[in-house]
Amino acid sequence: MNAIANRKLRKPSSATVSAQCACGRVRLEIDYPAFWAWHDHSRPTQLAHGAAYATYVGVWTSRFRITLGHQRIVRFEDKAQHTARSFCSTCGTPLLFERSRSRGMVNVPRALFETRTGREPRYHIALEESPEWAYRGEPLGPLKAYPGVLWARPRKTRRAAGRRPPLAG
Ligand SMILES: [Zn+2]
Repeated sequence: MNAIANRKLRKPSSATVSAQCACGRVRLEIDYPAFWAWHDHSRPTQLAHGAAYATYVGVWTSRFRITLGHQRIVRFEDKAQHTARSFCSTCGTPLLFERSRSRGMVNVPRALFETRTGREPRYHIALEESPEWAYRGEPLGPLKAYPGVLWARPRKTRRAAGRRPPLAG
């Protein structure tokens, strides 16, 4: 690799990307690029986000900063799970997820970032806890008379019944 390419690789170390909560009173910042990005399908995260799963960007705490609204952040320690979750006390947006198994690292919901974080979320944790109602990319079509609503057609049970393999035993 030549010297110019080397310089280009090292340049992003000074770049930062920012994130914010729904009300905008808390702002966060990380050094670019993040360490990794991952999807968390675990039950505690489902509850904390009120969602089927959450996508996080993980960074070392040394590369993470709260740039606005520190006093608005509320922290909940889940002693059974050995985790801590922080959220905005004004709007309720989940902000931080810390796990004792990965000390020195903080996870920020990917959706809070306005720009790219330098990592694609290629990793899945606790996929076996994913609820049966989670969207799994099944084909969707427009719903008549409801502009903007897409829906997944129910499976054609008659055809499926005809193709059902013979019962065992
Ligand atoms: Zn907020």
